Amino acid sequence: MVANGNREIPVTLINCPECASNVINAAWDCTKCGHLLRKPRRSALGRFVKASFILFNMLMAYWVIYRLCSITSDTGKPPTIDVTGGAS
Ligand SMILES: [Zn+2]
Repeated sequence: MVANGNREIPVTLINCPECASNVINAAWDCTKCGHLLRKPRRSALGRFVKASFILFNMLMAYWVIYRLCSITSDTGKPPTIDVTGGAS
């Protein structure tokens, strides 16, 4: 495993494989032709956020389905609204 401690990328000019123009190494894509030079790496935090977002969506979908099923199965009475009148 290669230790990738320093996050600074040395600014050097590289040749674009598409149009062979000089592009700064720090650039994600070629400024001339827009050729993608390197793929943006997804960080661990990004993956965690994405996974938690998917999990949250699944939980929400499950909750909505559960609510719908509980409402439709409870056909005896209309959904009651709990009105708590504080001021009397
Ligand atoms: Zn290019």
